[in-house]
Amino acid sequence: MHEECGVFGVFGHGDAAALTALGMHALQHRGQEAAGLVSFDGQHFHSERRMGLVGDHFSKASLMERLSGVAAIGHVRYATTGETILRNVQPLFADLHGGGFAVCHNGNLTNALTLRRQLIREGAICQSTSDTEVILHLVARAPQARFVDKFIHALRQIEGAYSLVALTNKKLIGARDPFGIRPLVLGELDGAPILASETCALDIIGASYVRDVENGEVVVISKDGIESHRPFPARRARPCIFEYVYFARPDSIVGGKSVYDVRKRMGQELAREAAAPGGDIVVPVPDSGVPAAIGYAQASGLPFELGLIRNHYVGRTFIEPTQSIRALGVRLKHSANRREVEGKRVVLIDDSLVRGTTSEKIVRMVREAGASEVHMRISSPPIRHPDYYGIDTPEQEKLLAARMSLDEMCAFIGADSLAFLSIDGIYRAMGHAGRNDHDPQYTDHCFTGDYPTPLTDLTGAERSVQLSLLAESA
Ligand code: AMP
Repeated sequence: MHEECGVFGVFGHGDAAALTALGMHALQHRGQEAAGLVSFDGQHFHSERRMGLVGDHFSKASLMERLSGVAAIGHVRYATTGETILRNVQPLFADLHGGGFAVCHNGNLTNALTLRRQLIREGAICQSTSDTEVILHLVARAPQARFVDKFIHALRQIEGAYSLVALTNKKLIGARDPFGIRPLVLGELDGAPILASETCALDIIGASYVRDVENGEVVVISKDGIESHRPFPARRARPCIFEYVYFARPDSIVGGKSVYDVRKRMGQELAREAAAPGGDIVVPVPDSGVPAAIGYAQASGLPFELGLIRNHYVGRTFIEPTQSIRALGVRLKHSANRREVEGKRVVLIDDSLVRGTTSEKIVRMVREAGASEVHMRISSPPIRHPDYYGIDTPEQEKLLAARMSLDEMCAFIGADSLAFLSIDGIYRAMGHAGRNDHDPQYTDHCFTGDYPTPLTDLTGAERSVQLSLLAESA
């Protein structure tokens, strides 16, 4: 499963479900495939889960009337592999010993398959293929009496990346994995605490930002206030650097840094490190390349022009399931602004290059519109390693930079020149002197292959489980 998602929760507000729906709408960039909302009205839980965009469903009065309550959690989901079926859509809900429990998850567990096999062998009945269901089972089986202790017991068994928001009949709970790989912030509106993946979900409802939930922290919100638990040994956070490159919305503040500012600085560093030879205009690949292109233009002194126009009424290209449809999606999504690019040496800026599909199409499009030269500049380092923490970069064989040299990639996308930001360049854009190789400041495995957590499902542990299953069936 590769998932990137957004989570939201609010506790102690008469409009809990409506606020949650708005928060989910602001987080829509993190997942467009499905959305779900669970509310609690003091006696009963109400759950609605739908395929599609938040606004397609959670704006309808008939649906929202069914989500009464003073506390709610919501989830937007984006999964390109695995089953895209309703039973995988979150929040997941179960009636456990002690009451109802709803949970939603942003991130990916790296030992979910291993745990799942063990659970199933012990008699657990799984209803979804989502790794989040493993958390539900671990909470259900925990021997402790209090929900919070059961939850922490479950967290101690899981590995990987998670920002979780959970709801019981008395509490709203938020948790971040020990490295704080995926983001999660605490906010407040009219005295009601809020949890959200990004600050843009606070802004949409006029809530104030209180602080980031810290790495390895569990926050428990109840009518008595907010408690903080730290069930893991203290360590420095290692948030995912790709949130800054691509995933987070530019108006969000992630880990105290403005995503927009960081992206502009990535563009400035790129102009300093790898300025295109000649160039009349700087053109972003919209929307993801815009802040970096502004930074590049400012640092290089070249004019910034909208040489490509994006059609906003198609989803992100990645949602399309096959390579051929994805390729088509790129054409649906962008068109060249012929008057601006004709006869010009164009410096094209995008935030990242994954399979190379976007760059190849866009370079061709800009050339066909009459550009005399096309120089591609990418405001992050080459992506050479797959992701297991929920940002949905594909298997290594599909990553262009894992298969090809710089010159081969340049030829593949058909550009006159191609350059990427360096690792130290991206760290400088993040406000550091460079990468601290002994204790890296970020989770940057896509660029470096340095995975901070064990990858149990991929390595020995999973194999030994498979072997024991084989032995059982023999
Ligand atoms: P590709 O066409 O496969 O090279 O993908 C690169 C394009 O997809 C760039 O325009 C990025 O802004 C965007 N992108 C990068 N990472 C992701 C991701 N995980 N999900 C969706 N889009 C992405």
